[in-house]
Amino acid sequence: MTPLQKLPPFLPKVIADIKARCACNRVVRPDLWVFHEEPFGPIIPNGQDGSKGAWVQQTIKVTCKCEREISFNLNPVTPKYPFFLYGDEANRISGQYAIDCYSLLGGTSGPIKDMSAELMEEKKRLLPDLDPSKWIVHCTKLLNGRERQKSPIFENLSREDVQTFIERCAAIIKTNKYAFVAAVFGFRKKHSDPKQDGISEKQARETMHTALLSQSIFQLTAQGLIPRIYLDATKPVRNLPHIEGWSRDTFLGSRHYLAYEYLSHGNNIAAPEFLKPGSHSLSELVDIHAFHLARSLLKRHNKEQPEVPMNKFGPCTYIAMVRGDYIDVQQADEVPARFIPL
Ligand SMILES: [Zn+2]
Repeated sequence: MTPLQKLPPFLPKVIADIKARCACNRVVRPDLWVFHEEPFGPIIPNGQDGSKGAWVQQTIKVTCKCEREISFNLNPVTPKYPFFLYGDEANRISGQYAIDCYSLLGGTSGPIKDMSAELMEEKKRLLPDLDPSKWIVHCTKLLNGRERQKSPIFENLSREDVQTFIERCAAIIKTNKYAFVAAVFGFRKKHSDPKQDGISEKQARETMHTALLSQSIFQLTAQGLIPRIYLDATKPVRNLPHIEGWSRDTFLGSRHYLAYEYLSHGNNIAAPEFLKPGSHSLSELVDIHAFHLARSLLKRHNKEQPEVPMNKFGPCTYIAMVRGDYIDVQQADEVPARFIPL
């Protein structure tokens, strides 16, 4: 990599900043984006299943221009538990801006079971006559009065019933101290040329999606938690055909880059899988999160109060796509005001 080459905007800063000073006083950086023929990741000895461990590369050597070799520690972390992440997206238009949001919610198997059981309880409380596993929480239908009237399930629910239900669902996420919540969003100025707008929309969504997954993989694998990622299947297939192929290509191709080894702390991360909406309770909960994040951003951008402020959902790692080539990350209870353009 030439020193002037720009790093992709989605890399966590600590990785993008990796460098060392050689004895000759030159600053040396490992090349994060040169293609390696042999993929990174753990190597399981022949005839074993990996339960007895694997070979994990500990360091990488980089040759300085003065021919000295500098060794960089890759900081691999031994995997402990699988960690299940569910993702969903929501989009809004506000004036000249398009607002895109993507939320991820997850946990290890215990907290996932707890959150699922609590959601079932809340669904039963909202619609006591129905089997809660037979209907799906869908914010666009639940929150819109006209849509509710058209629905044979939701027609008798009032605005207040729905509001209470949503706040209780948010509390499920907030009170589970082992829940992991991260969300990416961006305000993108719309192009007057629809074709150009389509291209920039695609690029923005790809960068945001990669930023969210990269940050989450980095945070979780640092603790030995190995993400398994499940995304909503219908939306990519119907409206966003790029995402499905794109997730796979990126994740399978990326093992050949040092950036991936740093991101995953030396672990293998499977490509995201696509689920039918509502096929898991966590998909329903993350639908609520993404919907309200988009709504909150729209309202605050228009200087109005959101009905359900994001602090009802508890702390979240907010990743803002500030520009096409720059992201800003902050863990907070509420979306920081500086992330919302005036
Ligand atoms: Zn040197």
